[in-house]
Amino acid sequence: MIKQARLPWIKTLEQFDFSFQPSLDPKVIRELSGLGFVGRNENVILLGPPGVGKTHLAVALGVKAAEAGHRLLFLTLDRLVSALVKARQENRLDRQLQQFTYPKVLVLDEIGYLPMTREEASLFFRLINRRYERATTILTSNKSFMDWGEVFGDQVIATAILDRLLHHSTTLNIKGESYRLKEKRKAGLVTETTLPKEDTHNDQPPIMDNEQ
Ligand code: ADP
Ligand code: MG
Repeated sequence: MIKQARLPWIKTLEQFDFSFQPSLDPKVIRELSGLGFVGRNENVILLGPPGVGKTHLAVALGVKAAEAGHRLLFLTLDRLVSALVKARQENRLDRQLQQFTYPKVLVLDEIGYLPMTREEASLFFRLINRRYERATTILTSNKSFMDWGEVFGDQVIATAILDRLLHHSTTLNIKGESYRLKEKRKAGLVTETTLPKEDTHNDQPPIMDNEQ
């Protein structure tokens, strides 16, 4: 079942270093790993800047669910929207929406990297509306909810999408430093001064550790 999920790679919760990510409460992750949220058709939304482990955690929760026998599908938002647009052009939108409604757990990665047209956003809304209270969607985004209006090109559609998504959901706001940069810095490839400014979408500045 995991083979059909189209995961980019497999990562597990056991491989996640919580000590590196103090903004995350391990208790909340432990609770989620019990998969009660899947049974209740609730959503999980992972927010935060690049490299903090959003995709890792989304995949890990999806893998847990697949191991428990739930049908899992992973898609970037970009691929999902392209598939919906193409299906509509080819007069098979309903069937495509049905295919994306079918998986009990759908991981939608990278909301917010590419802005959408209103038409694309309304196709996305139709999918979210179909899955609402019927299945679990796990989403990742580098944008805070306040910026979703811009992402979806329309405040009204964004509000309708958020309304459905957030009604039964857990949001994890991950702050802090990119794990990728941390590893590079350890290897001496990056120094403090050459680090690009973190692209933070939180009100708070990134938490920098002082171990150097
Ligand atoms: P994001 O989706 O937030 O941009 P990723 O989940 O792709 O970030 O994480 C980037 C890389 O760093 C991945 O290889 C991931 O497994 C690893 N990683 C991120 N955070 C952690 C962590 N706290 N513990 C272990 N590995 C991590
Ligand atoms: Mg990612």
